[in-house]
Amino acid sequence: MGTGEANYFRYYKRLGVIAKLATSYMVEKALPHVVIVGGGFGGLATARALCHAPVRVTVIDRSNHHLFQPLLYQVATATLAPGDIAAPIRHLLRRQRNVTVAMAEVTGVDAANRRVLVNYLGRPDMPLAYDYLILATGAAHSYFGHNEFAPFAPGMKSLSDAESVRAKVLKAFETAEIEEGPAKHHDLLTFVLVGGGPTGVEMAGALAELRRYTLQVRLPPHQPATGAHHPGGSPTTYPHDLSRKTCAQSPGAPGTRGGGGADRTGRESN
Ligand SMILES: Cc1cc2nc3c(=O)[nH]c(=O)nc-3n(C[C@H](O)[C@H](O)[C@H](O)COP(=O)(O)OP(=O)(O)OC[C@H]3O[C@@H](n4cnc5c(N)ncnc54)[C@H](O)[C@@H]3O)c2cc1C
Repeated sequence: MGTGEANYFRYYKRLGVIAKLATSYMVEKALPHVVIVGGGFGGLATARALCHAPVRVTVIDRSNHHLFQPLLYQVATATLAPGDIAAPIRHLLRRQRNVTVAMAEVTGVDAANRRVLVNYLGRPDMPLAYDYLILATGAAHSYFGHNEFAPFAPGMKSLSDAESVRAKVLKAFETAEIEEGPAKHHDLLTFVLVGGGPTGVEMAGALAELRRYTLQVRLPPHQPATGAHHPGGSPTTYPHDLSRKTCAQSPGAPGTRGGGGADRTGRESN
């Protein structure tokens, strides 16, 4: 084959590649567009379920990582680093060719025109068209009408919540170590947890472990106290006898005190 023929061959080959790309682009563009807001458990599971569906998927999240919320309490008690429970959404979905991930905050939905409004790269309310919209934005914590509690009692929904709790807890231990008055140790190392559900109980246990094993703060063992407080005593979801047993045993554990020693009926057990 002469040089001229070879050039023609290359030229037509390139044209073929371009035509193929253009066709697949047009086919892709013609596919229904599914927009998923939220890259939490719900958003990720939905995106994965659409792996082989003939659709284009866009996952939008205001942070670029998926957060494993059940282990937030371990970040709050310095057992795990933030990076241990957060993974980039792009990485998690990297093998899925029909997915695009965008870090942006969705500020509204224009359902009539099938568009979501997005704060994207500093540009507010940018419209993004969808054929199907899935809102998987999770839940926010509530102070049940007492928002004035917020500055003193952060929630535990995000990494920054957990990091701020961790900073407060570690600072309390540091301050207690240099504080000479035993009465102040008690104040500094009394952590009150409102809510005796799984997170409250796990957090109480982790604080006790932090005190007992991780931080060897030289304090009298009976001084610091962590208490998981529930309006009705210890976890109301526990059976009555287990609730009583928990309350009876908790005071014996150094560094830990059950919810004021009250059982699920609110009676004092110690
Ligand atoms: C401390 C804690 C412990 C838990 N422990 C357990 C457990 O042990 N077992 C269990 O089964 N469940 C547990 N859960 C509950 C579980 O984590 C949640 O049920 C689950 O995370 C809910 O998933 P989701 O996808 O609905 O929301 P999320 O996981 O909260 O995800 C929502 C996503 O939407 C994004 N988002 C929200 N609003 C916008 C917006 N406007 N624009 C863009 N993005 C937005 C957020 O950034 C987030 O990434 C726990 C929860 C917490 C907080």
